[in-house]
Amino acid sequence: MKKEPFVTKEQLEEIVKEYPTPFHLYDEKGIRANAQAVKEAFSWNKGFKEYFAVKATPNPFLLNIFKECGCGCDCSSLTELMLADALHFEGKDIMFSSNTTPAEEFQYADKVNAIINLDDFTHIDFLEKTIGHIPETISCRYNPGGLFKISNSIMDNPGDAKYGFTTEQMFEGFKVLRQKGARNFGIHAFLASNTVTNEYYPTLAKSLFELAVKLKEETGADIRFINLSGGIGIPYRPEEEANDIRAIGKGVRKAYEEILLPAGMEDVAIYTELGRFMTGPYGCLVTKAIHEKHTHKEYIGCDACAVNLMRPAMYGAYHHITVMGKDNGVCDHKYDITGSLCENNDKFAVDRMLPKIDVGDLLVIHDTGAHGFSMGYNYNGKLKSAEVLLKEDGSTQLIRRAETPKDYFATFDCFDILKDMKM
Ligand SMILES: *Cc1c(COP(=O)(O)O)cnc(C)c1O
Repeated sequence: MKKEPFVTKEQLEEIVKEYPTPFHLYDEKGIRANAQAVKEAFSWNKGFKEYFAVKATPNPFLLNIFKECGCGCDCSSLTELMLADALHFEGKDIMFSSNTTPAEEFQYADKVNAIINLDDFTHIDFLEKTIGHIPETISCRYNPGGLFKISNSIMDNPGDAKYGFTTEQMFEGFKVLRQKGARNFGIHAFLASNTVTNEYYPTLAKSLFELAVKLKEETGADIRFINLSGGIGIPYRPEEEANDIRAIGKGVRKAYEEILLPAGMEDVAIYTELGRFMTGPYGCLVTKAIHEKHTHKEYIGCDACAVNLMRPAMYGAYHHITVMGKDNGVCDHKYDITGSLCENNDKFAVDRMLPKIDVGDLLVIHDTGAHGFSMGYNYNGKLKSAEVLLKEDGSTQLIRRAETPKDYFATFDCFDILKDMKM
């Protein structure tokens, strides 16, 4: 399918008058409509809740939108917990799915009554020592090992992933947790990332439901929720087909009715921790072409760099690019689209066929709404960009200002070494 930006050239030209490039732009309308679709797809399940994966886009304005849509949030670190707490998410609406967890993060999670999702068997003791008790409600993350397959295709490699309890550890863990006072149990698993198939959740659900039935039978644990976590992908490439969340919800329902209902487990809530699917397509990075370079290859240099969007540099990830106003032109120029880092992997696209780009053109880099801004860093002393919300009425709101040199140097403020810095 042709990928079109969620703003027009005219709209964007107005927006860049107010906010200098580069910046991430988010589409409130798209975010809300999609959150509603997720809710509807799982409305057959009474306790359903989406816990938005904060790490995808940790912005309080966006988190508030999800809160209004009835979502909770899934945190993985101290600052994410702090953010959820500051926005008055209730404890039951905060999932704490972390790994290699520092003691102070468990303490904070306990303080805000978040649901703790343990990543490892040894964390049972660690948690008990750290907070002095085992919470009544607790969840364990499952990793069956091996390869995760749908039909015959390999989706991912859990056997090589650092996360979760083995099957035996799940059984042992539930027994130990019960002895230590846990009453309400959850099961969590994240076995494949960015899946572009309607079969991922149903396949995962089936195996977790089967495990839940066995865990209940063998350990007597009262299983209250099953957390399918993240992993529903988005079509980064034009030739990919978008997931159909209604079909996904239906597939999970079928597994629920086939496995949990006959086992008398008809009140188990389904939770999700989607990140990418919730915001990915509803954000883009807006940047301007500032140089063209003709050497061994044709380069377009822009004012954004990997600091603003790391996925291409880190994973060779594809992000579609629209040259605003030239979308109907022929793609007869082969370019590398680069940022300014002293790293040759700082390229948003390599050998990409695009219309002829001129200095001053606005480029929209698609699907940066999740794991975009949030992965940013400060290499080469580059500063992080602003984030702007395109609201439902077409107006815009600055939801994070761009960093300034002062922010970059802020961590030296307890020394007097920078007293001659002119800012
Ligand atoms: C990253 C993450 C998510 C969200 O993953 P997406 O691919 O963005 O859906 C959910 N849960 C946990 C524990 C994660 O680490």
